[in-house]
Amino acid sequence: MYVNGEWTAALDGKTFSITNPSTGQMIARAPKGGHQETKLAIEAADHAFKSWSKLTANERAHYLLKLYDLMHEYQDQLAEIISLEMGKPFTEAKGEVAFAASYLQWFAEEGRRIYGETIPASAVNKRLMVIRQPIGVVAAITPWNFPLAMMTRKVGPAMAAGCTSVVKPAGQSPISAIAFGRLVEMAGVPKGVVNIVTGASGPISDEIFENPTVRKISFTGSTEVGKLLVTKSAAQLKRLSLELGGHAPFIVFEDADLEAAATGAVESKFRNTGQTCVCANRIYVQSSVIDKFSELFVEKVKALKVGNSIDPSVQVGPLVSPESLEKVEEHVNDAVSKGARLLYGGQRLKGKLSEGLFYEPTILGEVNSNMLITSEETFGPVAPIIPFETEEEVVRYANSTEYGLAAYFYTENFSRSVRVSEALEFGIIGMNDAVPAVAQAPFGGIKESGMGREGGHQGLDEYLEEKYISMGIK
Ligand code: NAP
Repeated sequence: MYVNGEWTAALDGKTFSITNPSTGQMIARAPKGGHQETKLAIEAADHAFKSWSKLTANERAHYLLKLYDLMHEYQDQLAEIISLEMGKPFTEAKGEVAFAASYLQWFAEEGRRIYGETIPASAVNKRLMVIRQPIGVVAAITPWNFPLAMMTRKVGPAMAAGCTSVVKPAGQSPISAIAFGRLVEMAGVPKGVVNIVTGASGPISDEIFENPTVRKISFTGSTEVGKLLVTKSAAQLKRLSLELGGHAPFIVFEDADLEAAATGAVESKFRNTGQTCVCANRIYVQSSVIDKFSELFVEKVKALKVGNSIDPSVQVGPLVSPESLEKVEEHVNDAVSKGARLLYGGQRLKGKLSEGLFYEPTILGEVNSNMLITSEETFGPVAPIIPFETEEEVVRYANSTEYGLAAYFYTENFSRSVRVSEALEFGIIGMNDAVPAVAQAPFGGIKESGMGREGGHQGLDEYLEEKYISMGIK
């Protein structure tokens, strides 16, 4: 672990193992920290906050840009770690490293624009002003599916705002976080500004929520855990940002460019082997074009190369855990038993790859709303195609979920594009665009997909407090 600029083990020496999902082999052990290690990390962050928060934005930007450069310099090594510990295809993992670094660059620049406000007073002898200050010590709890990017999306704005942080990475992917800690050290970031504690989520998060020094928690993960954290935050009214689960509709209208829509559906569905919060979960296709679209889509999915994630030519890797693989099987079996038609795939990979957690890229036709896959997040490489007749009907279907993270639709009709983007109840809309996330735009969900935004200028607001100062003058 990386605490107060030092590399440390768990106080009792305990560790846990990390398994490569492509091979089933153990690749590393990481320290199993808990309450006490987290407490030390929070103390270090608190101490560092006093001087880090006093630096100028330019000085803080210097460290962020150094980290940005280092991430590019070590792009291949970082991608290798991501790929080995959580199974993201290597070439895609390189993309994640660049994406993760882009947040550091964006927030280095954005930190220079933490503007305040002056307000006209109601009396001649008063002046009113609002300043924005760093919130304090921040805790970041991150998931395994973007082990680097979800971290820089939190640590980047925290550093830029003048906050210090304690990061708790997911149990399946602690090595990427540790590697990031190494870069923090190489960049000469003052000790205690970024601390990384690996280990047991229960005791670590208990300390984070009970320790009054922590003023804000930024969490990315499941809606189930997110709700638990809302309850825990009540005791001290700690500020929370939550990036939670999704159930993205992907709508193809009859006036769409079907070739572009099929390409977009592959990108949106099979990225990270279907394990992203913004992956298409329900592909709605207007009946008049469903045969043509399905044909194009199946053709493209057949061309995807599945295999050991470390192979740079592989496009679809393994699932992250045996439980994830079981959930995928459950969703496919449930849909088929209720009348869905298997258009492609539909089973675990056999032969050479059977040691890993591989499932064939799968397409299901004639899916309906009685099937689990249309309401639960599958988090795997399964694409369900659902027919629809009218725009009004599909908007209703698309919105009929407790989630509200991302939604996509394809059309060449301008008026429809405006109507549908306004009618969809989601935080992110991809209109003829399957990959909308970039550092300079606000990313986040509505409804049970979370609260707060990451990226964009909004991403910095999450780490700042507003202070109103009323000044009497002579
Ligand atoms: P998860 O089980 O909720 O875990 C996420 C993080 O929370 C991990 O670090 C985990 O640690 C920790 N955690 C687990 N139980 C906890 C508890 N009781 N208290 C405090 N922390 C706890 O989610 P996941 O399965 O890793 O990630 C997949 C989910 O994340 C999906 O639902 C996906 O949609 C969502 N996601 C959302 C976004 C977004 O931006 N909206 C981005 C990526 C992923 P351990 O691993 O040590 O248990």
